[in-house]
Amino acid sequence: MKRIAEVFIISLLVCGQLAGIAINAAESDASGYLNDPFTRPGIITPYTLPEAWPIYLDRNPHNLSPENTNTRLVVLGTGMPLPNPYRSGPAFAVVANNYPYLVDAGEGIWRALAKAVLIHGDAINRALAPEKLKYLFVTHLHEDHTVGIPSLILNPFKLNIPAPKAIYGPEGIDEMVEHILAAWKIDIAAELSDGYDPIGAQATGHNIDVEQQGVVYKDDNVTVEAFRTIHGPLEDTFAYRFTTEDRIITFTGDGGPYHENIVKAAMNADLLVAEAVTEKNIGYAPWGGETVEEKKKEIFRYHFSPAVLARIANEAKVKTIVLTHEQNYVDPDKFERSGLKDEIVEAGFEGTIYSSMDGDVY
Ligand SMILES: [Zn+2]
Ligand SMILES: [Zn+2]
Repeated sequence: MKRIAEVFIISLLVCGQLAGIAINAAESDASGYLNDPFTRPGIITPYTLPEAWPIYLDRNPHNLSPENTNTRLVVLGTGMPLPNPYRSGPAFAVVANNYPYLVDAGEGIWRALAKAVLIHGDAINRALAPEKLKYLFVTHLHEDHTVGIPSLILNPFKLNIPAPKAIYGPEGIDEMVEHILAAWKIDIAAELSDGYDPIGAQATGHNIDVEQQGVVYKDDNVTVEAFRTIHGPLEDTFAYRFTTEDRIITFTGDGGPYHENIVKAAMNADLLVAEAVTEKNIGYAPWGGETVEEKKKEIFRYHFSPAVLARIANEAKVKTIVLTHEQNYVDPDKFERSGLKDEIVEAGFEGTIYSSMDGDVY
């Protein structure tokens, strides 16, 4: 029995070391997901798109951030409205001087924070500490980018953490935040009657005036600029440009047609966090019309085609795209995890593209 225990402990140690190496490797081949339970679907529905199959997750989350920087991008959620159990809703943290600035709050953000911390350890744990979660910048008011806001406000409050939230976004974010607090007023009142610190339940939405786009927030760690963009019929949507002492990180938000403001937001950025939809396989998209032509017309009103994203990144002289919110639709038997990435390369982008996963750090 003792011998078995020793062998077990030794193999744990070896596995632990290997796991450490795998996460720090530049591009790991290892994937802890390949053995997840999976039944190959006979029918493709919103639940069973091949992009969500664990057998196609070919690596573990990685940390590719430079060692000598005080600014890191923590990828919390790479999902979109269609449900993928391996992708939380859109959410990111720019960590500057160990302080987090969140961008978008999709479904599962609170759990996604825990996931990133459990993968990367104490430094990220300290940087994303719940008491530091005070600033959120929302690109637009679509539900997939905002449905995590109640969770971001109320879960730290449940821990009686006195961290008020300042939430910046397009016009209407103020009312959205007010309505969230009103919707959960019974829960909030119950905790307050038990002596909870009311500061933890404070949240204020700050409408960004689209006509006065530019610097919307600034402190010792970061300057945040907003640039108005177009995304389907939404009138107020933003790209955000974060400038710190040593890096520039731009978030396009959800895309649409080419827009010079996105080029301005991304000019010479170290990282461009962007979305795109396959053009080659758009016929497999489960929305946007019946024919390929209808789908192209409708879907590219809302999202970047590979060609538009390549053009924006090239004009902005961006060297690295962190791809997220991927709509990599395809015939299930021909799925390639790099399919969308490859289309952006074919469209003329010569820099580096990472098809990001929840828990990645750049
Ligand atoms: Zn979206
Ligand atoms: Zn959207």
